[in-house]
Formats: sequence, structure tokens, C-alpha cells
Amino acid sequence: MIWAKDQTHTGWGRVLSAKGEIARADDVRTLTANAPAVGNRRSYGDAALNGGGKAIDMTRLDRITAFDRETGLLTVQAGITLGELTRIFAPQGWLPAVMPGTGFATVGGAIAMDVHGKNHHRAGSFCQHVTSITLIQGDKTCEITPKTAAHWKATCGGLGQTGIIAQATLQLIPTKGDMMLVTEQRATDWDHHVALLDASDAPYSVGWIDATATGAALGRGIIEEGETCRGLRPTRRGTKKVPFNAPHWALSGPIVKAFNAAYYRRVPKSGRTVVRTVQDFFFPLDKIHDWNKLYGKRGFHQFQCVVPLDQSHALRDIMQIIASSGLASPLAVLKRMGPGLNGRNAGYMSFPMEGYTLAVDFPNRPAARRLIAHLESATLTAGGRLYLAKDALSTGTAIKSMYPDYPKWAREAAKADPDGALQTDMTRRLDLRISK
Ligand SMILES: Cc1cc2nc3c(=O)[nH]c(=O)nc-3n(C[C@H](O)[C@H](O)[C@H](O)COP(=O)(O)OP(=O)(O)OC[C@H]3O[C@@H](n4cnc5c(N)ncnc54)[C@H](O)[C@@H]3O)c2cc1C
Repeated sequence: MIWAKDQTHTGWGRVLSAKGEIARADDVRTLTANAPAVGNRRSYGDAALNGGGKAIDMTRLDRITAFDRETGLLTVQAGITLGELTRIFAPQGWLPAVMPGTGFATVGGAIAMDVHGKNHHRAGSFCQHVTSITLIQGDKTCEITPKTAAHWKATCGGLGQTGIIAQATLQLIPTKGDMMLVTEQRATDWDHHVALLDASDAPYSVGWIDATATGAALGRGIIEEGETCRGLRPTRRGTKKVPFNAPHWALSGPIVKAFNAAYYRRVPKSGRTVVRTVQDFFFPLDKIHDWNKLYGKRGFHQFQCVVPLDQSHALRDIMQIIASSGLASPLAVLKRMGPGLNGRNAGYMSFPMEGYTLAVDFPNRPAARRLIAHLESATLTAGGRLYLAKDALSTGTAIKSMYPDYPKWAREAAKADPDGALQTDMTRRLDLRISK
């Protein structure tokens, strides 16, 4: 591998950045786990940063090794993206079982964050559909499966701290086609929004929230329910690119409020059903390349929490604080998460748990950082947790108390990587590799 020196890189939120050596691995046989692996850095904070150190970019290791078209069992190198898998396999009748909101996430990044999608209530999280993982630890290679108990649970959602994920076998799920039938309806307020999510039995469901609406309209938004289908291909809308950092007024309070009101009304009162491509449904923001530049040079934060089912009132209070702050951007999402397959979390540090998850973007300002600290403590009080793929601001004390299995994960990570070669800016910032 050739190491490029002094490479500056950032997380997707562009608030935290790092300078260090990066090598783009192109031959799995030359891989040694002497530095953390990174995918497409679609994590918002510093999970994929290693300032002053080295990082191994996995995106060239993107081969398909084996596929059984009868069973949907697929073996791939870890650098392949979920968007690419969707493009190749949806026309053949198969989809990755779980997809986050961006197709740029790699399989390695999806395992290391144990990502969830719009079907968590039905399908659980990504790693619950992974049947084996090839890990590189130091200069050795090992294969782990769900039977490998503690090692498996420390790898799924384990921030890449038990080794470099070189390859994985995924159980794809059948799809009727590469199109989606999507029903959209308005939710008039918070209670209506939650009730519609609770009542949904669609394979995929998600709520967009107008995070600027207050008073009686607090929590209003649009619920999208989708299922795969074959059908007429809608007119293809091209990919756009944000060429420069937007000025800070572009997402100022009045503009966001006006945009959100129009976005809410785009769906008629009686609702509507539309046909979309799978890419448009699962990865709506990917059509605008570098959309993170819309937040300007200072970047942005995403606050994402999940709270238990019986704490929806606490989440409503959180929503109230956000709406009255006037700081939120148009991107705010509410989902209901299920118990996970077999009622279990896939990993010790996996984010998903049964309950409601809320994700809201905020331009990076001192007031937004203070607000997020406040939201974090409300989450903790409600017995919930923050998502490390989105975090740039939390503290180790808060995170450790949100993840009760943290000590088990830290012990496994210490066994697998005793010298701490795989540490990242995030594990250092949150002091996560202490195994006591
Ligand atoms: C627009 C957008 C929408 C999103 N929507 C969702 C969503 O709906 N649900 C959800 O769960 N997440 C969501 N995310 C978060 C995203 O899915 C995760 O951050 C995911 O980890 C990104 O994958 P990546 O390949 O870019 O990984 P990176 O961000 O590059 O890395 C993430 C972590 O994985 C580790 N890692 C990466 N590759 C390897 C490897 N081969 N071996 C070992 N460790 C590795 C890194 O060290 C790091 O700790 C979204 C992100 C964006 C930008």
C-alpha cells in the first residue's frame, strides 16, 4: 500500500477534520490491521477520522466474491457500497436486507455502525442479516459468525475496533422489482404522527417532521410507507452537485420555515400514492452530490437519538425544545424501531433498540451545540441513547451510560487490538477503549 501524507479529511458533517496518512488498499492480501479502516466517511463526526495517524481507505476493495441466485447469499469485499449492491441486484430480484439513507455507505461501514433502515420494525439492523465476517487482526485473518458470540457482538456496531472487516457474507432479501409503491400522507401533529407510525404495517415506513412547526402543529409532517413493486419507470431526475459552500443565510430560520411549510403541503390533504425507483426511495439525498456544503464552511451536526416506546412523551418534549429553538434545518426524521430480529440487539454497541428514533440536522453554531447538549441529557433521562454514526459532541461518560454492554465491547476490542492501533478520533474523544 502507498501512504499519502498530510491528507486532510472530514466526517460528513464537516465540523471535525483530521490530517494524517491515508492508503487506499487495493489488494486484500497486503492488508495489515495497523491503522483503522474507513469507508466513504458518511459518518457525521469523527468515527472515521484518525488525526496525526494513519487510516486505510477500503473503497477500492469492492469486489463481489460469490452470489447464490437461489438463496440470495452474497459474499463481497467490505469496500463495496450498498448503492452499488442495490443497482446490481434489485433488477435480479434481490435487495440488501437493511439500507441506511445513503447508498454511499460501504458494507464495512454498515457493519461497523450496524446501520438501520426504514424497515427496522420488520427486519432489525444490518448485522442481523450478515452470516459471516472476515476480519484482519494485526497480520492475521480470521472468520467470525454469529456463533462466535462475544467477538461477533463486539464487531457488529463495534466501530471497527475488533479488526479490519475485509469481507462479509450477506443474506439479501427478495424484492418484487426495482421500483417502490409509496403512499404519502400528512400527519397533522405529534400524536397523529406517532399513531400513524404505530399503525403502519408496511414493509418500509418513515416520517418527515416539520421541525419548525410549533403550537398545535408541533410534530406535523409526512409519513411515507413503501413496498417494492414492478411498475412504470418514473421520469429519471438527474444527479445534481452543490458546487460551493452555501452562505450561512441559506438555511436561516425564516427560509427553513417557508421551505418546510411548502414541503408539508406538497402532499395533498387526502394523501397520495406514487411510484419511485428503489434508489430514489432509499437514498433521496444522494441525488444531490456534496449536499453537506449547503450548511456552509462551518458544517453541521445531526442529533439522532432513540428512546423506548413508553417514552414518546419525552421525545415530544425534545421535539418541542427543537421547534421553539428556531435552529433546525429541513432534515428531520422520525421512525419507529422494532425489537430487532429475535428481540435482540445485534451488537454490544449497536444503536437500534425498540422505540422511536428522531434525527434532526442543525447548522454548526454555538447555540446549536448548547441545544444538542440539552437534548442529549433529555435523551439520557428518558432511558435512550445517541447514535455514534452521527455524533461529534458527546462525552464518554454519557455514551458509556447509554450503552449498558459497553464494558463487554471494550474488553473484546482490547483482546482483538491490544496495542490500540485501530483507535480513531472518536474512540479517543469518548475515551472508549478503556475496558474496566
Ligand atoms: C445522508 C445520510 C443518511 C444516513 N442515513 C442513515 C440511516 O438511515 N441509518 C443509519 O443507520 N445510518 C445512516 N447514516 C449513517 C451511515 O449509514 C453510517 O455512518 C455508515 O457507517 C457510513 O458508512 P461508511 O462506509 O461511509 O463508513 P465510515 O463513515 O467511513 O466509517 C464508519 C465506521 O466504520 C468503520 N469502518 C469502515 N469500514 C470499515 C472496515 N472495512 N473495517 C472495519 N471498520 C470499518 C470506521 O472506522 C468507522 O468507525 C446516514 C448517513 C448519511 C450521510
